[in-house]
Amino acid sequence: MCAPSIIETVRDNLSRRRFLTAVGGSIAATVAAPASGLGQQQKPVRLAKGFRDVYDLTHTFGPKLPVFPAFKPVEIRQKFSIAKDGFFANEVTFDEHTGTHMDAPVHFIAKGGTADTLPADRFFAPLAVVSIQSRAARDADTTLTVDDLLAWEKAHGRLPAGAFVAMHSGWDARIGDANRFLNRDAKGTMHAPGFSEEAARFLVQQRDIVGAGVDTLSLDKAAADKFVAHLALLGAGKYAVELLANLAAVPPAGAMVIIGGPKHAGASGGPVRVFAVA
Ligand SMILES: [Zn+2]
Repeated sequence: MCAPSIIETVRDNLSRRRFLTAVGGSIAATVAAPASGLGQQQKPVRLAKGFRDVYDLTHTFGPKLPVFPAFKPVEIRQKFSIAKDGFFANEVTFDEHTGTHMDAPVHFIAKGGTADTLPADRFFAPLAVVSIQSRAARDADTTLTVDDLLAWEKAHGRLPAGAFVAMHSGWDARIGDANRFLNRDAKGTMHAPGFSEEAARFLVQQRDIVGAGVDTLSLDKAAADKFVAHLALLGAGKYAVELLANLAAVPPAGAMVIIGGPKHAGASGGPVRVFAVA
């Protein structure tokens, strides 16, 4: 846990950076991520001191993970061995949207930002974990609503500027059983919770967030016939992280999330390593 003063400092640092980026043309040119990303070093992001606990919010990336049906399971093949080659290395083949992964705006929005061009300071954000676990245990088609966000704010205060808002549905407890995770009915329709369209719109219109995450495979509830939450969030230039792990362990307020990658050229998203510190 961390003192409110530390959160204030984090918020001040982040919002100050955003302010500088917004108003200072020459500063923006220095700190904003270059389109190519080649050979250019960004200025460091300053974090508040005082965080003590580190949480890994990432599932181990591998072939047993559940995948959205449009994509292939991850493949990991040993390519070199110490006995034969003197060194060990694997070849890994995967679709961008597998494992704990990011959706960049371009995933759903033509001409939207690619993951490699998102400014680095958006990967460090105050973390708000909104739990709908008890409802999700009874109703797999439930969604995170505006009322859930307001209830979180009633308990913890207004969402901090530049927040990353994560839905905790308890779905990550099913990770070892892909059938239970996908939760298909007799007709093959999947059932798992997600953000409601209204909640996604509220976050991008009424609050200041960098992105949103879920412990399921999709921002939208699995049975939805349209990607309404994706369109609302990515359409506003925010990013998403799907298949988050371990959200039950993290304090619902006061932690900071750190999201590593992806940064391959033109990325619509890709596997990430996500930490929370509190
Ligand atoms: Zn995705």
